[in-house]
Amino acid sequence: MEKVLAAVRTGPSQTEVREYPMPEIPDDAALLKVEVGGICGTDVKLYKTPPTAAPVIMGHENIGYIAKAGKEFTRRKGFREGDLVFVEHYVMCGKCEWCTIGQYRHCENTDWRNNPEAIRYGYTSAERAPHLWGGFAQYMYLPWNAVLHKVPDNVSDEEAGIVTPLSNGIEWALYDCGVGFMSTVLIQGPGQQGLSQVVACKQAGASLIVVTGTTRDAARLELAKTLGADHVIDVQAESPLERVLELTGGKGVDVVLDCTAGAGTAPILLGIDALKRRAGTLLVQGELAKFPDFPLKKLTEKAITIKSARGHSYRAVELALAQLASRRFPLERLTTHEFPLHEVDRAIRAVGGEVEEGVVHVSLLPWKDDAR
Ligand SMILES: [Zn+2]
Ligand SMILES: [Zn+2]
Repeated sequence: MEKVLAAVRTGPSQTEVREYPMPEIPDDAALLKVEVGGICGTDVKLYKTPPTAAPVIMGHENIGYIAKAGKEFTRRKGFREGDLVFVEHYVMCGKCEWCTIGQYRHCENTDWRNNPEAIRYGYTSAERAPHLWGGFAQYMYLPWNAVLHKVPDNVSDEEAGIVTPLSNGIEWALYDCGVGFMSTVLIQGPGQQGLSQVVACKQAGASLIVVTGTTRDAARLELAKTLGADHVIDVQAESPLERVLELTGGKGVDVVLDCTAGAGTAPILLGIDALKRRAGTLLVQGELAKFPDFPLKKLTEKAITIKSARGHSYRAVELALAQLASRRFPLERLTTHEFPLHEVDRAIRAVGGEVEEGVVHVSLLPWKDDAR
């Protein structure tokens, strides 16, 4: 019987390469040959402190070719064998109000936090048949309710590996925070997510894009400028608030996007102060379980709106793929590191800043050892 190799998270910061049986593909399902599994900050957290004790094939940002497609799968979804696709990690129910409007990310069927039966690539237990629920594997199982996007013909599988952060950039900056023509924006953190926000804001017509980072981020801050940032600030060398106020003539910015990792309360406090006098928008990511002395008074007095970063919609992914295809930005410069399947541990640590230098976006290539 044919076997499939997969890197399985077996405990906190522990990975084992295991074999699973090649699944039977029913008429309404398909099989993906995984070419690129993107890795992000969420993987760093899930790897260090797994939300479940079950073995999990991680990898939730997946690109590959349809290796097998059931007749009914092709009839319903239009995808056939040989198509290069991006697979969303959300597996929809297809019936609820969220699915109907293309916001699969809110569907209960894929809500691993609240629904123990939820299916989500990179999160669902590998004990659940047919086991292949993550991208850090040679193949992934695609049921009828997987959400797929066709990768444009002039975009390679490796280039498409950054579609998730790009689509998050469009979702958070443009849809959630309303960045558009002549907007002024502060983006905190020059990692893959912050840099993707730069690209989205630039394309949308923002008139001022400021990116913060630390001294260690010097190369990434340079890349931010290449991608369209007007100014960058090393928060260890100068006061970011003073600089933002100086750059905006004392007004503050319209929108602040927090794309830092593990920076504590500082980015939120800076965001509240750096926003304009009234009705600015602050995008947050839920890193902190507690926030002592949160300045709620300041927030309400400035009439600030807080938005939560929560993945991407169908449309944001389509636009991100179109942006890649347009080749308007040197997006290939975001793809900095690639690792084979048996180096998942190192790949995740690279994203977490523990190993390697100059990391922006890291991809796992499950076939790298054999095919290249
Ligand atoms: Zn991710
Ligand atoms: Zn649904």
